[in-house]
Amino acid sequence: MSFALHGLAVSSGIAIGRAHLVSHALLEVSHYEIPDSRVEDECARLRTAAAAIKAELAALKGTTAASQASAELNAFLDLQAMMLDDPLLVEAACERVRQQHINAEWALTQQLDTLLEQFDAIEDPYLRERRADVIQLVERLLKELLGLARPPKPRRDDLPTVVVAHDLSPADTIGFRGQHIAGFLTDVGGPTSHTAIVARSLQLPAVVGVRLARSLLEEDDLVIIDGARGVAIVNPHPSIVEEYRLRKAELEISRTRLARLKDAPTVTLDGTPIELLCNIETPRDLDLVHRVNADGIGLYRTEFLFLDRLDRPSEDEQYEAYRDVLKSMKGKPVTIRTFDLGGDKDFAPNTTRVQPNPALGLRAIRYCLAEPTFFLTQLRALLRASVHGTLKILLPMVAHAHEIDQTLQLIARAKEQLQREGKKFAEDVELGAMVEIPAAALTPGIFLKRAHFLSIGTNDLIQYTLAIDRQDDAVADLYDPLHPAVLRLIAGTIQFGVKNGLPVSLCGELAGHPEYTWLFLGMGLRQFSMHPERVLSVKQRLLRADLADLAPKVQRLLKLDEPARLREAFEKLNAAATSA
Ligand code: PEP
Ligand code: MG
Repeated sequence: MSFALHGLAVSSGIAIGRAHLVSHALLEVSHYEIPDSRVEDECARLRTAAAAIKAELAALKGTTAASQASAELNAFLDLQAMMLDDPLLVEAACERVRQQHINAEWALTQQLDTLLEQFDAIEDPYLRERRADVIQLVERLLKELLGLARPPKPRRDDLPTVVVAHDLSPADTIGFRGQHIAGFLTDVGGPTSHTAIVARSLQLPAVVGVRLARSLLEEDDLVIIDGARGVAIVNPHPSIVEEYRLRKAELEISRTRLARLKDAPTVTLDGTPIELLCNIETPRDLDLVHRVNADGIGLYRTEFLFLDRLDRPSEDEQYEAYRDVLKSMKGKPVTIRTFDLGGDKDFAPNTTRVQPNPALGLRAIRYCLAEPTFFLTQLRALLRASVHGTLKILLPMVAHAHEIDQTLQLIARAKEQLQREGKKFAEDVELGAMVEIPAAALTPGIFLKRAHFLSIGTNDLIQYTLAIDRQDDAVADLYDPLHPAVLRLIAGTIQFGVKNGLPVSLCGELAGHPEYTWLFLGMGLRQFSMHPERVLSVKQRLLRADLADLAPKVQRLLKLDEPARLREAFEKLNAAATSA
């Protein structure tokens, strides 16, 4: 039977392959009692399974594949190894075997239930999220016990494998390297889930959050993954397979064609230079940045240093990460954003307070200023790294002048301390503010004497302007970048920058959508920052743009209030951009 499944598009590309179902061991556990004489045998099974997984984790870290893996994945492997040693897991399950005379699998799932109850009682959202890691580890242990940890069997045709799972751990995902994997499909996960991160770094298409993928698909089903659209088509009609084969081939051709643009000067038809910068989440993304020969880093989301760990990164660890990025960019500008924690990227190890509305709560610069010692550590690490290149510091979610003033005071304090300690730093590090709250976009004057540059974060600017939670799919249809209010706030900020000589870049997702390139150019934008994969498509559009022709068209578009007419004008602009 042919059917389509929809999920989140987290890694683009097209895959055509055969499904390999990765078991959900928790659902396959049998429960039975054992005689006294078997108690120690069951405990030995548990310990042997734990030892096998530990050896596997160590091997994964040691292989070439794993040494290419990001620090975040290595940290995750360490965390899993640490949890395996925790007496609350394997030893506690053994204790249950002894006391209740039950089989190892049952004891392990009972112990998991107890641990999960404890996790649910934790108020700290970051620690609570670690429950997923415990579930993944128990899953792996169960698979080992049940003999389910098998690689995909050889296929009847030479199609590659599409891995279908409820969820995948990074270790699972890395373990699939070299096995002719075409893509991933999972029931759970979001854009920053492990599957998504690994798939992007392996440049394999993936659709996550498909909900019922694992239960609806069968082993060996033919599957097409359309990573850009977030769609999986199962057992498609041969004509659809043919169409996707063609699209895949076209995609490869256009990728090759685009790759040729990498060294072309980034100027519009009329000779105006444009800066194309990249958004990165870890130093591991730098490979892609170099591949497209970007002009610099426009946004380094440092909060990703917190992924998969329970403790805070030390000053030295931060310094090393920032230094590596600066060194690798060899003098090109590197904009490092201070921690944007809270909101959807929650982390508050020392608080037990549940925020009633995290998106409007103690997030980003507010969180950092509320924890000055923590913030000072990041500022010190940034300043120490500044000698290795051209550093710019960017503050997220600024709405008040005093937030910048307080940061400037902390920077001054960090400089004093470093000077006293004889540690070097660059004196002239620029400070910028993100414009992602309507208040900031409406009163950009507060930045004139305080900031060296602005960066528009459309992801949040849209969320806060239209009062829709960017995480909540129930209101996702209202997330409209073309709402006149949104466009005017963006255009107003850019124009303010042009008039006052304050450089403005745009680093929200929209910067990487080629459909918006001409619109933003017409508003006066000259710096775009986006996922490295998008750089060349945007470059292709801007090379064909004639700014003198564009500007008046965009000014007219900005005056439109009627959504249908606005969209029509936008589409006309786009059609001209595509056919130019
Ligand atoms: C934004 O809000 O547009 C942005 C770039 O920041 P983030 O997506 O990290 O919130
Ligand atoms: Mg933001």
